Amino acid sequence: MTAERATSQTIAIAGAGLIGLSCALELTMRGHDVTLFDPNPAEMSTGWAAAGMIAPAYELMLQPGPVDETFAAFCFESARLWSGFAQSIIRHTGSPVALSTAPTLALARHEEEQTRLNALADVLDRLGHGYRRISASTLQNQFGLSAAVHSGLQLPDDTQADNRRVISALRRFFTGQGKLISAAVTTRSEMEELAASPFDAVIWARGTAETGSEAQVKGQAIALSPVSGQPSNVLRFGARYIVPKADRTIIGATSEPDFASKGIDPAVADALHEEAARILPQLAEANRLEHWAGFRPLGTVERPLIGSKAPGEFIATAHYRNGVLLAPATAKLIADQIEGLTYESAYKAFAPAPGHGATA
Ligand SMILES: Cc1cc2nc3c(=O)[nH]c(=O)nc-3n(C[C@H](O)[C@H](O)[C@H](O)COP(=O)(O)OP(=O)(O)OC[C@H]3O[C@@H](n4cnc5c(N)ncnc54)[C@H](O)[C@@H]3O)c2cc1C
Repeated sequence: MTAERATSQTIAIAGAGLIGLSCALELTMRGHDVTLFDPNPAEMSTGWAAAGMIAPAYELMLQPGPVDETFAAFCFESARLWSGFAQSIIRHTGSPVALSTAPTLALARHEEEQTRLNALADVLDRLGHGYRRISASTLQNQFGLSAAVHSGLQLPDDTQADNRRVISALRRFFTGQGKLISAAVTTRSEMEELAASPFDAVIWARGTAETGSEAQVKGQAIALSPVSGQPSNVLRFGARYIVPKADRTIIGATSEPDFASKGIDPAVADALHEEAARILPQLAEANRLEHWAGFRPLGTVERPLIGSKAPGEFIATAHYRNGVLLAPATAKLIADQIEGLTYESAYKAFAPAPGHGATA
């Protein structure tokens, strides 16, 4: 970033989800005048459906094909930015967001998962990120996991925050400032008309509603009542996870690219609950508090779309499985671009193709 301070701009953001709100906070902290537009309650956003994992390491393992090193660098950078981001939220809103420092435990239940964890360890070695191997006996004796778990990796870069607290705190803050307008928008001129003033820059951050090639991948998850003695670490096994929060334990999630209905399926809730209880037996007795589905915004590849799509028009979407993880780095990258600052040139690869989802 260059040392020169940019002058204050008026900026509109379409979408007050995790990404729009994070961009709004970063730009406000840099002295810009930001207005958000969103017609829906927070509960309808994908960010509300998320588990809050900040998981640059484990997510590497879930991506298809060879490691996308530019994307991986962005993910690890964002995880590193999370602590400052959480402090900024507290400073501006007064609300803590329960950012945890407990490392995630990546678990293998059988040979194939062990092979995948070994491959992840090799990648982490190559990229220079830490991990620690954990034996079955430590997982059982220290963390209370069942004998179904054969081994694990402790991932110090992978943690979690309470995504719902982040969204609620930031929405309250911008609403209190009169900077969150309850309206659906599809064009810049609509936003200018609603605000009765022109904007220097516009950011499109409407998640799955963004125009272009984004698809949606449905994810169903459940929340259980917390049980005493359960580990404070996020537990990951295959595509599933157990994420303990102060007031709920989230078990997730399905990944349904070709879903027929936007509804939830009780059989899925049962299956998620049973699979989690095979890892952490005391969860079998936990009450089921909630069952929901969210829609992950997916681009043509698993990278997000972040960058300029026309003069004064920016896009920040397609964060797919990683919108919580990537919120701070996305906000920084968008703010650097709006201010015309220099930024990591490899991240230009996240910019949309010219003419992407053109708006009037
Ligand atoms: C089950 C599940 C679990 C997940 N877990 C994690 C996790 O642990 N960690 C992680 O990093 N990611 C996770 N994700 C992914 C993460 O939730 C998304 O990547 C993230 O929410 C995307 O944020 P967003 O702001 O782009 O979209 P959203 O959060 O959906 O926000 C978009 C906003 O745009 C608004 N909007 C829509 N149309 C308009 C319009 N016309 N005008 C104005 N506003 C509009 C919407 O109302 C909404 O508020 C999970 C997703 C799911 C489904």
